[in-house]
Amino acid sequence: MSTVSAGPGIHESALASLRPQFRGDLIQPGDAAYEAARQVHNAATDRHPALIAQATDTADVMAAVRFGREQGLTIAVRGGGHHGAGFGTVDDGLVIDLGAMRGVRVDPAAKTARVEGGARLSDVDHATHAFGLALAAGVISTTGVAGLTLGAGVGHLTRHFGLTIDNLLEADIVLASGELVRASAEENADLFWALRGGGGNFGVVTSFLFRLHPVSTVMFGPTLYELDKAPEVLRWYREFMAQAPDDLSGFFAFLVVPPVPPFPEALHLRKMCGIVWCYSGPQEKAEAVLAPVRSFGPPALDGIGPAPFPAVQTAFDGLYPAGQYMSWRSDMLDDIPDAAIEQHLRFAPDLPSVPSTVHFYPIDGAAHRVGTPDTAFSYRDARWAMTIVGVGRERSDLPALRAWTKTYWEAVHPYGMGGGYVNFFGDEGQDRVRQTYRDNYDRLTRIKAHYDPDNLFHLNQNIRPA
Ligand code: FAD
Repeated sequence: MSTVSAGPGIHESALASLRPQFRGDLIQPGDAAYEAARQVHNAATDRHPALIAQATDTADVMAAVRFGREQGLTIAVRGGGHHGAGFGTVDDGLVIDLGAMRGVRVDPAAKTARVEGGARLSDVDHATHAFGLALAAGVISTTGVAGLTLGAGVGHLTRHFGLTIDNLLEADIVLASGELVRASAEENADLFWALRGGGGNFGVVTSFLFRLHPVSTVMFGPTLYELDKAPEVLRWYREFMAQAPDDLSGFFAFLVVPPVPPFPEALHLRKMCGIVWCYSGPQEKAEAVLAPVRSFGPPALDGIGPAPFPAVQTAFDGLYPAGQYMSWRSDMLDDIPDAAIEQHLRFAPDLPSVPSTVHFYPIDGAAHRVGTPDTAFSYRDARWAMTIVGVGRERSDLPALRAWTKTYWEAVHPYGMGGGYVNFFGDEGQDRVRQTYRDNYDRLTRIKAHYDPDNLFHLNQNIRPA
């Protein structure tokens, strides 16, 4: 426990009532730990909460939710703190931070993992790899499992094993009332439906139960091409992926080649395009599956080779440390028409920094074998989740980054499906959220009205209660 004084907006007597029920640290302005504790991944978000409650278990989360509600505090729930909109923090309100709840328990016989609500992907990859198993999730190991999962979860294994939500078996969730319930296909099935894509709207998830898959060593790495070859590459890529086996994934990228090994010096800092491949099927078939990939072009760099899955998951961590200034935009795509490629070529040459990028993540294959009405995630007909990310080192970089992502996005948006991926776009207002949930939106508003009628959990891609 770090302080005995109450911060602005919180009465000392009120805080005294929380302390006996809360085992984790309660951090307020003025505490030594406050500056570090208030930060989220995207430094563009610079907020000063009145209280940061670092939960250690479900009982702490229940106490914190009740406290926040009784005190009329705005509540921000933080898993890994990675959301580009900075939803994991709030000015003058209460942050319920699950960052100390990172436990993962693997059941190798059942091929499942129980994962606490503040775990990072690295926690899951480490625990599961020991048994030759993996969770289909995202591509940067520092990302929070909770936010990623609740928004859908897209990564190298999506085509093979589905979105992260397609591998979710149950969740323990603390509701706005402070009560804990379980959501699964059998219990609170409506809530379980909503959690699979509906984000943090319905409560605080303290633990997830996931299905795992046998994945250990995969074939992984990029093929890179000159930027002026992008039209040819994208035309080949869109046709190739349409018939590629599910166990092959490859996300397309416009990128700046990082000036570090294993990239050859001749390519350092060059603006290029490329595809980051991951083949997770039987390794004896890898070369045959990858043969057309290796022969197309040929690429300026073929960096594909065998890699243990946790190494794949950490390959890009160095590009995206916490504390950079980021601007995110997104769209769902069912095609990459020639007219869209023309627009990309207007903006991609101006990528503003090394980590700035444009990615097209494939979300077909196994993810298409779940129906749109079956989960809250509403884009089962999309083939790619696209993101445009501008990244800078200084706050003063932000206006230019935001201008680049916005004008880029506006130019390519007409070729998208309308909505975006909730985990890849910023705080863009209600219309964007409604547009993104499409026909599932009305059902989500009814479930929200049942579980969180007062919209206590609104720092998210917010679904308003019906
Ligand atoms: P937070 O900011 O902590 O939370 C995000 C949202 O979820 C907030 O609204 C929050 O209130 C809510 N939330 C968090 N924890 C809980 C909980 N326990 N219970 C209820 N609600 C909760 N996404 C992908 O799908 N695939 C990727 O490969 C991928 N790569 C990324 C790489 C980087 C560098 C970054 C910054 C993001 C990436 N994302 C990716 C996006 C990522 O999925 C979202 O940022 C996601 O919201 C992160 O979850 P978090 O718990 O870290 O975030």
